[in-house]
Amino acid sequence: MERSLFCRKNEEICSLLGLEKPFQAKIIYQNMIKGIGSFQEMTSLPKALRERLDNEHGSAFSGTVIRKEEADSTVKLAIRFPDGDIIECVRLSDGSGRYTACLSSQVGCAMGCAFCKTGTMGLVRNLEAGEIVEQFALLSALGEHISHIVFMGMGEALHNFTAALDAVKELHREDGFGISYRKMTISTCGLVPGIRKLTELDIPVRLAVSLVAADDETRSGIMRVNRSYPLSELKAALTSFQRRQDRRLTLEYCMLGGVNTSPESADDLAAFCRGLDVLVNLIPWNPVPELGFRAPDESEISAFCRTLDRLRVSYTFRRPKGQSISSACGQLASESRRKEAH
Ligand code: SF4
Repeated sequence: MERSLFCRKNEEICSLLGLEKPFQAKIIYQNMIKGIGSFQEMTSLPKALRERLDNEHGSAFSGTVIRKEEADSTVKLAIRFPDGDIIECVRLSDGSGRYTACLSSQVGCAMGCAFCKTGTMGLVRNLEAGEIVEQFALLSALGEHISHIVFMGMGEALHNFTAALDAVKELHREDGFGISYRKMTISTCGLVPGIRKLTELDIPVRLAVSLVAADDETRSGIMRVNRSYPLSELKAALTSFQRRQDRRLTLEYCMLGGVNTSPESADDLAAFCRGLDVLVNLIPWNPVPELGFRAPDESEISAFCRTLDRLRVSYTFRRPKGQSISSACGQLASESRRKEAH
């Protein structure tokens, strides 16, 4: 398919595929949510129709999996769309049978966070809502039931707000994937207007903020978004979000050796958390050789954790999985793509 069939009304699917009977569009949709893209395998359609659709469109999906890599129970797919753009998405396992899909919302990213490989690509283009949903369908087709979704792949989801939220609604559809809103997490680098828009919507998705530093000088040095929306504005937006949605927030704290691991950094982090119901997720930086940071050493990590304990900050610490296939946080970036970043 030239364009994704997800996030479309039944009539649109009929018109795009030249179907005369609306129930045939429903059959195709039901196959797609099982990860079946081949029209030939949609055996409840008449044979002649299957052959015509196969000849005319090849697959019900617009994206093609061009690479699959596995390590540490993590699977990463590279998906190419018809215009040649390539994105990556990941299926993560917590080791106890719970699977989470990490989806991309853009090809590249405009935010330019200094510690993130995707940021080096610049923004190539926004993904359409259907292209975001297709990633979930293709990850589900790997064979395990995926119950949770995080929008933490390539791109800043709130910078592609309409498509990301349309994808969230499609993934929630009862006659589709049926994923609970509460099991979906939108991650942002702190795009305050997007957080405010999300606050206005009555959709109880979870919100995670990539904080990385809790003082403006350090944060503005490594995250350009902070120059437009400093920490005071970010905290005000999060306070409003929490007042409206009454949901615990996650603050992702990517630990950069020698940058944000001092006792003063921990004090700033504790001060930022005060008044919010948050869980801080400490993640040691995943090395990306060309980016010029270093992962924190063990003594830095334990000293930082001890200070957070003393300051009574709720946190979890997790070692990144999937490093060997570059699928850990901040490591996604397609190595080949059609367009140059702008
Ligand atoms: S951390 Fe997120 S927002 Fe920042 S450059 Fe990477 S993908 Fe974009």
